[in-house]
Amino acid sequence: MPKKYHIEINPTPLDLKLVAKFKITRGENCINCGKCTKVCIYEAHKRSEADIRKIAEPYMVACKNCFRCIQECPRGALVKSLDPEFQALGGPYWKPDMFLSIWKQAEDGKVPVSGAGYRGPFTGPGFDGMWTDMSEIVRPTRDGIHGREYISTAVELGRKLNHLEFDASGALVSKVFDVVNVPIPIILDIPSSELITPNIKQAIVAAAKKIDSFVILPAENITDDVQKNMQHIIPLMSAEQVLFHAELIRHARVIAIDYSDALLKNFCSIRESVRNLSPALVIVRIPASSGIEERVVELVRAGVEIVQIAADYCGMEVPGGRYIKDVIRAVHLRLVDERVRDEISIIASGGIAMAEHVPKACICGADLTAVGLPLLIALGALVYQEPEKKIVMPEGIDTVPVAIARQRIVNLMGAWHSQILEMMGAMGIREARRLRGETGRAIFFDEIDKDIFGKLFQNQEAASV
Ligand code: SF4
Ligand code: SF4
Repeated sequence: MPKKYHIEINPTPLDLKLVAKFKITRGENCINCGKCTKVCIYEAHKRSEADIRKIAEPYMVACKNCFRCIQECPRGALVKSLDPEFQALGGPYWKPDMFLSIWKQAEDGKVPVSGAGYRGPFTGPGFDGMWTDMSEIVRPTRDGIHGREYISTAVELGRKLNHLEFDASGALVSKVFDVVNVPIPIILDIPSSELITPNIKQAIVAAAKKIDSFVILPAENITDDVQKNMQHIIPLMSAEQVLFHAELIRHARVIAIDYSDALLKNFCSIRESVRNLSPALVIVRIPASSGIEERVVELVRAGVEIVQIAADYCGMEVPGGRYIKDVIRAVHLRLVDERVRDEISIIASGGIAMAEHVPKACICGADLTAVGLPLLIALGALVYQEPEKKIVMPEGIDTVPVAIARQRIVNLMGAWHSQILEMMGAMGIREARRLRGETGRAIFFDEIDKDIFGKLFQNQEAASV
């Protein structure tokens, strides 16, 4: 049995100003009796350091919403309300509660518990319109999570053989392709290099090494301070820059090249140039846009072994308007129809915001995912979708020690790994590789809606004509 993959988590608070969901205001009738400081076991209320006769502003990030201070204040001086700053976070895709969930997971590495009695909607756009079949939840495969059976989250990057050929003497004649093993179906993807300070870059690279995965980093940002971890860095470059970055390619196990028409036309010679430098596998990174199915088939025919399909930060193709889950499904099915699915690995990226999105993307046909924005949110970034995309890194982020930032990302990945295991166990799937295209384990709301109610409304429409 292979050694169990484990991500070491460690509680790691971030000593920066974060936005809390609620705010508590203290009225002028407060008599500074200090009772709230005693009843709040989470230490959200404390006496002021400047003047211990007074009570400091509540530290709302610590508040667990238990209402005890409100109930026990002898003067009824405390008023609790939703913080408008929190409500303004994110937008239709990046919902404010996602930030709290990511912050919490980055802090303690544990699976978030939202409590019994889910009262939210049961469907929505993107991955929310997809439900996974958890009917194995009470069956023996669940034991795998807790030790008796092994559930593997490992996946492979690279071309796979779908059959072996032998000659008359029984010797293998099929060419076995190089693959790279990744123990979790996630690679890190630094989303926006201008927001990344040197300490954060070092932390993300160190986190990729710690979880034994990779981070995609623009080649020009691979400075001396991170080059010792080249085995876990995927340098991203344009086709024209391949020879310029020869030294990086020599030390990398995987490289990524941005898609362009020139790349497609000259892929054979570009691939040969890389092969002359190192045995590194090559990812072609292509934006998710309409007609991508055709372009991925062309890439397979040109000999590309790994493709990263990159949607925008909300998981949308641009232009085109489909969600990444639908784009991946369409590409996967097209490759199956063309009988070339095993000749390429697909990395889904853009809009991967929660642990459940990882197995869902795989069920839609991806081999693995690339995660970007949640890494910055784990470090306190605030993201706004409206009126336009804006990412604000917290003040003082450039002074956060690398070890702290690294551990928060490791914690987040640890929490996601635990949730992926839970989902796989509940689905009765023991190998993440088998999630790929396993749509029998999912229900797509749009499809059942059409199946069940479509006919009904069709009949009504026909009757009204
Ligand atoms: S318990 Fe009420 S009155 Fe006493 S310090 Fe707290 S807010 Fe003020
Ligand atoms: S609501 Fe509960 S957790 Fe929040 S500040 Fe009051 S006592 Fe503390």
